[in-house]
This record gives sequence, C-alpha cells and structure tokens, in this order.
Amino acid sequence: MSAVEYEPVIGLEIHVQLSTRTKMFCGCALSFGEPPNTRTCPVCLGLPGTLPVANAEAIHYGLMIGMALGCDLAPRSIFHRKNYFYPDLPKGYQISQYDEPLCRGGRLGDVRIHRVHLEEDAAKLVHVGASGRLHASDASIVDFNRGGTPLAEIVTEPDVRSAEQASEWLKLLRTTLRQLGVSDVNMEEGSLRCDANISVRPVGTKELGTKTELKNMNSFRFIERGIKAEVERQIGILRDGGQVVQETLHYDPTTGAITSLRSKEEAHDYRYFPEPDLTPVSITQAMLDRAREALPELPAAREARFKDELGLNGESARLLAWRAELGDYFESALSSNGVEAQPLANWVTNELVQRLGGDADPAESKVEPSALAKLVALVGERKVTQGAAKQVLDKLVAEGGDPQAIVEAEGLGAVGGADELAPVVAAALEANPDIAERLRGGDMKPIGVIVGHVMRETKGRADGGEVTRLVREQLGL
Ligand code: ADP
Ligand code: ZN
Ligand code: MG
Repeated sequence: MSAVEYEPVIGLEIHVQLSTRTKMFCGCALSFGEPPNTRTCPVCLGLPGTLPVANAEAIHYGLMIGMALGCDLAPRSIFHRKNYFYPDLPKGYQISQYDEPLCRGGRLGDVRIHRVHLEEDAAKLVHVGASGRLHASDASIVDFNRGGTPLAEIVTEPDVRSAEQASEWLKLLRTTLRQLGVSDVNMEEGSLRCDANISVRPVGTKELGTKTELKNMNSFRFIERGIKAEVERQIGILRDGGQVVQETLHYDPTTGAITSLRSKEEAHDYRYFPEPDLTPVSITQAMLDRAREALPELPAAREARFKDELGLNGESARLLAWRAELGDYFESALSSNGVEAQPLANWVTNELVQRLGGDADPAESKVEPSALAKLVALVGERKVTQGAAKQVLDKLVAEGGDPQAIVEAEGLGAVGGADELAPVVAAALEANPDIAERLRGGDMKPIGVIVGHVMRETKGRADGGEVTRLVREQLGL
C-alpha cells in the first residue's frame, strides 16, 4: 500500500472588535482596561425590560469592511438571537446575524470571503485561583465592560492550504482593517481574534474532510503553530485508519497540546430566531455613499499608484502598499525632500527594515522620515558612499539625529576627487604587487582586492567606480 499524501484545507473565522465610540446596542463607551464593571448599563448587563438599539457607526464600519473586501452588501439584513448559556452572556443569548448577514461573498488576495456579519462581544471571564484544578476557593469573576462591544465576524471560504498561508493572509487582513480605521486590530489585546477550521484530504481529491475548529488564537505565531499541530494530528489519525471527530479544540501554545473544548454544536443547537426587539437593518443610498467616501486608498490601489505615478518597481510597490506603515513612512519621507523614489524605497524596504527588525513600524523608530530622505539624497549626490551611508543609518537607528551632522562628526563624507583618492589607490597597488601584476596582464578578476583595500583604508568612504577608474589609470590600462 503506498502512503496517501494529504493536503490541509482551512477556513478562517475572524472576530474584529470595532472601534466605535459606543457599544453595539447601548450607549456605554467601549472599555480599554478600566476597572471591572464600570462601563455597563441595564442593556449590556441584560437586565429585563431593556431594549437594544443598533449602533449606526458599527453598521457604517461593517459596510466599509464589506466594500473593502468586495462583498455584496445586503439592502436588508436582520439580527438574530443565538441562544446559549454561559456566565459571560447575561441575556442567555448573543445578538448576532444568521441567515441574512450584512455582507456576503467577496475576496481578499487569494482567499474568498464567505460572509461578514455584525454581532456583540461577550463579557470577560477572569479565572482566579492558582491550583489549575477546581477548588472551592477558586472562582471565576465576570467583567461586563467588554460585553456588548461591536464585532464584525469575517468568515472565509475554505481556500487556505497551509499554516503559513493562513498567517500571511491574516496579516493582509489586519493591514486592510487597520487602514480602514475600523479597529485597533491588536491581537494580544483581543481586538482581532481568529478561529481556524481545519480538515485534511488526500491530495487530488475534491471532497472536504471532517473539520475541527481551533479556537481563539491570539498571535500569528500561535496560529501557524496551532494549525500545523492540528494538521499533523489529523493526518496521523487518518494514517492509522481512524476518523477525525468534528469538535472544537483548544491549542495551548506553551505545551503545544491540543485539547477538546466541546463536541461540535450545530446551528439548531442555538435555536436561532429573529431578534424581536430590533428592526431590520435597511441600507440606504446615503449610507452607502458615506461608507464609500470614508474608504481610504486600499493596498491594491496604492500599489498601482506607486508603480504608475512614482515609477517604483513591482516588488517595492507591493511591499510598501501592503505594509501600510512602511508605505506611510515612505510617502512621508518622499514629501519632505527632493529625493528619488526608487532609491528611497530600497532604503526603506531593505536597510531600514533589516535594522528595525521584521514587523516594526519605522514611524516609531528614531529615524525621522526626513532624515532618511536626506541620507538617500546624499548618496544620490555621491557625497556619501553606500557603505558609509549604512554606517550613518546605524547611527540614526540607535540615536536619531541629522545625517549631514553625523557624516561630518564621524568623518564619513565620501573621499573627495581623484586628488585625495589617488595616493590611497597607489598605496593599495604597492601593497599588493602580485595582484597589480595580474591586473597589468589584463586579468581584471582580482580588482576587488584593491577596491577592498581602498575601502578599508577610507572606512568605506571611497566611490567604487572611481577607485576602478584610478586603478586603470595608474596601471596604464
Ligand atoms: P459551521 O456550520 O460548522 O460553522 P460553516 O459552513 O459555517 O461551518 O463554516 C465555518 C468555517 O469553516 C468557514 O470558514 C468555512 O470555510 C470553513 N469550513 C467549512 N467546512 C470545512 C472543511 N471541511 N474543512 C475546512 N474548513 C471548512
Ligand atoms: Zn451598556
Ligand atoms: Mg459558522
């Protein structure tokens, strides 16, 4: 029997806390770490006799998300009650959307969107007691500040094929949402939360396997690791001739363990029914116009503009457009100075990103956009060599400041014309007679040795082209 190869099939469900001024169905302000139970009212505490009112700003944000993801926006959508009991849900039901959501269809990058709907967040349970097992002295306390926070739930089609693709795509989604300004999109603080639905199937087959759902992962790294672990677990089961059980799972990032939270619930378990206390959401042309106007330039449009108007190459344009913070920094630097776009883009996406590390936002670094622009301009004017400019950038990253002043203070200015450079080149040739001999004989390969020597002597301040020219001149080539 030959071993069957399996491929992962993954669909994502993302909960996004919307950064509206007030909660989804009441006038309480959203909470940012205030003392427990200080941002509550009878509505979000679920007291009897209260009535919810849908938050117009949340609907506006929902429409913006729908537009950005290319969804069909429903002219009429309704809220449902999703009934279940949990201590963080005082009403005994969550107001959500069910079969008539605000948005359907759409796409972001290589993943299709199934739907986007609005709902309210649950309160927060805080477990106290250190035993890790249930003890009479242990307790769970409920902080209702989060209860009722507006959420947009974004559900993808099962188009994702690997753990890496899942986390890459989520970064894309996070960038888009951040640009829309509809959410803080902070995973650690829970304003962006992701569940992954995972199954595997023999490569080449179309039918979907039985899926499990990995709940609430709160970092890109954990999402990647969690999905990998679950895919391996499922493949192991199938290889052993077993069957995957449909259930909801928890991935513990510290131990790598996957544990069952509950067997999979079905829609009918929730006894969905239309929320009788809310009118349907009717989308007017004015609401659509307002959402359309509020849309910022989205990454795809920005990428095209960087290419067409600034003449950036494809790779730079894509990087700067899809990492909005890099694009913003780049544009700010570009506006502050008569620097050329492509060299500036290279310095931002290569040298600066490398020095700041992976996901860092350069706006939070000590390098002012105008300072980087000035440095790149100095390189363009050949007042500073590439190598010396990298040293200046090291200094800017560490301490900030003005590149021109650093160049002067550290003596990093390009070694001036031939007058200054010629003796250094001559000394280099003298120090390497065998190399000089080969060069004289027409073998130019070892010229790097001479250039390297001159660079060392001048601390990288010599222009490589000029050094080569002088070598030829002095050897009479
Ligand atoms: P449920 O009814 O269990 O909530 P849905 O059909 O609503 O399932 O899908 C929820 C999510 O699971 C979606 O992102 C969807 O793409 C994904 N999904 C559905 N079936 C599978 C499967 N067999 N394997 C992987 N993902 C799946
Ligand atoms: Zn309230
Ligand atoms: Mg579902």
